[in-house]
Amino acid sequence: MKDCEYQQISPGAAPQPASPGARRPGPAAPPTPGPGPAPPAAPAPPRWSGSGSGSGSGSGSGSLGRRPRRKWEVFPGRNRFYCGGRLMLAGHGGVFALTLLLILTTTGLFFVFDCPYLARKLTLAIPIIAAILFFFVMSCLLQTSFTDPGILPRATVCEAAALEKQIDNTGSSTYRPPPRTREVMINGQMVKLKYCFTCKMFRPPRTSHCSVCDNCVERFDHHCPWVGNCVGRRNYRFFYAFILSLSFLTAFIFACVVTHLTLRSQGSNFLSTLKETPASVLELVICFFSIWSILGLSGFHTYLVASNLTTNEDPD
Ligand SMILES: [Zn+2]
Ligand SMILES: [Zn+2]
Repeated sequence: MKDCEYQQISPGAAPQPASPGARRPGPAAPPTPGPGPAPPAAPAPPRWSGSGSGSGSGSGSGSLGRRPRRKWEVFPGRNRFYCGGRLMLAGHGGVFALTLLLILTTTGLFFVFDCPYLARKLTLAIPIIAAILFFFVMSCLLQTSFTDPGILPRATVCEAAALEKQIDNTGSSTYRPPPRTREVMINGQMVKLKYCFTCKMFRPPRTSHCSVCDNCVERFDHHCPWVGNCVGRRNYRFFYAFILSLSFLTAFIFACVVTHLTLRSQGSNFLSTLKETPASVLELVICFFSIWSILGLSGFHTYLVASNLTTNEDPD
């Protein structure tokens, strides 16, 4: 099951277990990779015109002179979009701002207060390595935070109606068990798909509904408030690269600051050196308290990558 790629259930398919070979051929057939920017010349009506909080205008017939609304403008989840729908972020960005603040403050203080001394006394390679690591960390963080994690578009009104009708026909019309499931055969293995009541579709394997963003996310790992986004199929590699490079950056800054303080305190009192360099002490404190969780997270995700698991699937 872990090696399988999902295929969306066709709403017109027979109710018995079917081979997942076809994408749904609903009325809005073009494959929608997510809430990304729609092609500029797409005059299609919004897909979510009938459900969710962002539903509404655009479905009427009297909107001839109006600009067609983009998919991100009628997106029913809780994400926020910027730059004309090119960037997206989860609804609550407060913790993400804290992540940015911690990284920018620590690295900024390091470049201003430690690097000049270390470059003069030791080698110019220290600020160069720190700069490369910093830009790598920031690019991975921003790509994790502002890209689509693998959101599956909700069913259109027609697709949802067809699926509901089909579910009603398969069982008793008076009683529906709460967790509606469907079994499909994938690579010779029977896989149980759960119905998502919000997105009105059977979730493909390894997909989960994020309650914070209110979307089904493919190969859902977890919702990470520190990066301000879900971590899923499309941004997991950026997330993993981010925590790995952040571990290196934190350990590098910590080692360099300790070296700086040790060199400075030679021939004088260590405590008075600490008083002379409050910025270095602040960096040391931030690095010391964050490095354990960052290293632990990197190790945990290395184990998950090696086992082809997600945080959501990890049994422990
Ligand atoms: Zn869902
Ligand atoms: Zn989320």
